[in-house]
Amino acid sequence: MFEIRHLGEPQAALCFELADQARFSPYIPYLQNLAFMLGVVLAERLQREQNERHKAELDALVAVRTRELAASEIRARSMLRTALDGVWLVDSDTCMLEANAAACAMLGYRPEELLGMRVAAIEAGDSGPAIETRGLRLRQDGCDLFESRHRRKDGTVFPVEVSITHLQELDQSVVFIRDITGRKQAEDRLLRSQAMLARTEGIAQVGSWEWDRATDAVTWSDELFRILRRDPAEGAPSYAQHAALYPPDDLARLQQAVAASLNTGQPYELELRALRRDGEARVCLARGVPEPDAEGKVSRMFGSLQDITGQKQAEGRLRESEERFNRAFQFMPVAAAITTLAEGRFLAVNRHPAPPARHAPGGSGPAGHRQERPGRAGPGRLLPLRHPAAQAVHDPGTPALPGTPVKVLRHSGWRGAYTRRMLAMVLEAPRTPLRPVRRPRPRPGPGWIVVRVGACGVCRTDLHILDGELAEPRLPLVLGHEIVGRVAEAGPGARFEPGQRVGIPWLGGACLACAPCLAGRENLCDAARFTGYHLDGGYAEYVLADARFALPLPERNTDVADAPLLCAGLIGHRAYRMAGPARRLGIYGFGAAAHIIAQVAAQEGREVYAFTRPGDAAGQAFARSLGAVWAGDSTQPAPEPLEAALIFAPVGALVPAALRATGKGGTVVCAGIHMSDIPAFPYRLLWGERMLRSVANLTRQDGADFFERAGRLAIRTSVEPFPLREANEALRRLREGTLQGAAVLVPQA
Ligand SMILES: [Zn+2]
Ligand SMILES: [Zn+2]
Repeated sequence: MFEIRHLGEPQAALCFELADQARFSPYIPYLQNLAFMLGVVLAERLQREQNERHKAELDALVAVRTRELAASEIRARSMLRTALDGVWLVDSDTCMLEANAAACAMLGYRPEELLGMRVAAIEAGDSGPAIETRGLRLRQDGCDLFESRHRRKDGTVFPVEVSITHLQELDQSVVFIRDITGRKQAEDRLLRSQAMLARTEGIAQVGSWEWDRATDAVTWSDELFRILRRDPAEGAPSYAQHAALYPPDDLARLQQAVAASLNTGQPYELELRALRRDGEARVCLARGVPEPDAEGKVSRMFGSLQDITGQKQAEGRLRESEERFNRAFQFMPVAAAITTLAEGRFLAVNRHPAPPARHAPGGSGPAGHRQERPGRAGPGRLLPLRHPAAQAVHDPGTPALPGTPVKVLRHSGWRGAYTRRMLAMVLEAPRTPLRPVRRPRPRPGPGWIVVRVGACGVCRTDLHILDGELAEPRLPLVLGHEIVGRVAEAGPGARFEPGQRVGIPWLGGACLACAPCLAGRENLCDAARFTGYHLDGGYAEYVLADARFALPLPERNTDVADAPLLCAGLIGHRAYRMAGPARRLGIYGFGAAAHIIAQVAAQEGREVYAFTRPGDAAGQAFARSLGAVWAGDSTQPAPEPLEAALIFAPVGALVPAALRATGKGGTVVCAGIHMSDIPAFPYRLLWGERMLRSVANLTRQDGADFFERAGRLAIRTSVEPFPLREANEALRRLREGTLQGAAVLVPQA
């Protein structure tokens, strides 16, 4: 029996079994041979079949691949044909091998013209060497993207964006070209309009900004960087970083306005001070416009900042000049009126004499000219005043300007009948007693008020002025700058009503336009005017004051009790603020200012150490009664190192004493306007970062802050009232140091 078994490719085996070995034995070798041959034939056949199968599979695969390749090429070609960008293929020598229709259209060549052409022939942006460099880079990196310019067949040049891929295997490159004429034009237009905007912003001094709320990203225009003297390279500060751009008060107002704007979706506009990099403050008009999204939520804001410092300064100067004119007008020793040109209607009449209607003497006299005025004004004797508007009217050589002539009515002899008088204690020369004088009661011009004095404190500064220690008092002068009273008369535009309670402090005026004024330090203004020094003060029944510098006072206490707060309190408070957050606070010179500030300090949890003249047991007991934890002689060392010291006494020797008593890093504040010379002292007293400083005057903000603080605390003032006529006695007692608390003059006592 034979059995042939297929053993898997390509072998086969033949097996046979000899059933009857004996009978077939002679044939066995033959049979074995046969079987072997059969096996070989079979194996060959199997092998052939298998090879044929493999070849067929391979052929099928090749056919599929060929079809795919063809399809891919069709796709590529159709893409090239329909592409909007120009595409061409160049060899390693930058010769064009192929170019699509868009490339031909872009360059104005027929396809056959482009083939074989070198890239340099159409390149108008780069020079030959630059092209070579670019080629080298391309071989290294494999691709490149850049902008250039190409030249058309007709010679015109247009901007292009070029993207090249280098085919390493073929040493050829595929180049995509995009005509970017439109984009460039748009960019140019944008640049031009940005430049125009920047120029306009520069002329108008308006900077603009944009704020994306979600990212807190802020964008500024160049002009805004210029206005605030910031470096555009640093980028605009985020809204969160705006704290550095504004003084704290202004920042708070801005934040309030922005918050309101975000809430309501309404734009805001406010005037504020913005700080330049160097700390200089500029007055700016800030505007913001919210941009609500589809749901009404404000996601972005736009706005502008306009530098109006120059305008403000001009306004300040104009106001000053108006005030000067008005004061001159009101107080000129003759009657004057401002009338309209056409009808001669009265616009203003100065206060000095009676209104012209009441005066009808018949109008005879040598000077001036007569003028008949029907109705309310009777004929007066009118003289032209040397005022530009008046001159324009009266000088026939100049064309008449629209304006208001100023007429002066001259008369005399009945002046007193219409002028109310008041008592004032007047300083006529340094180191002489004040003289009681009856003088006309002042009348307010626009922006000014006349205050009926309820009480006026007597300050050590008054003694310095009286003694000629301060250089420039206006003489004759009415002293007094701790005035509490009520508005008797308010000029046009003054921010007070008659009857309102006000305080008139030392700072009686400032220009409000110089650098310190704009930075909120009007106490340092060179043009500042001080009450009872440059301006008549409160040692009188009435006082004239610039309403902008008068402090509205709450109805808290009697005028007499509150008067010392207006200087001793305010200057003391400024000194106290300058001392910083010291816990152990020394106070040298326990007079009017000290007794107020000691109470403020004690009630705010500080430890007050009071230093008095040696042996002043009463003064020391008084200090303890106001909350001082310790009181002693100023020659004594402090029981504990002080963290800060305030010197209210005008004694220079207290400066080294206070420095000696103050620990490292402590501050010594000299609060007085005058002090005797400071004796030489060893440097080690100042060493250790001790600070020695003075405070000068006060700002209106100090006034507001102090009265706000005083309203929260229980401050008792210790006062000794004197009738106004006894001003000299009050000054003498102050000089001798025999007052307990503060002397206060009371006109209506
Ligand atoms: Zn004072
Ligand atoms: Zn100023």
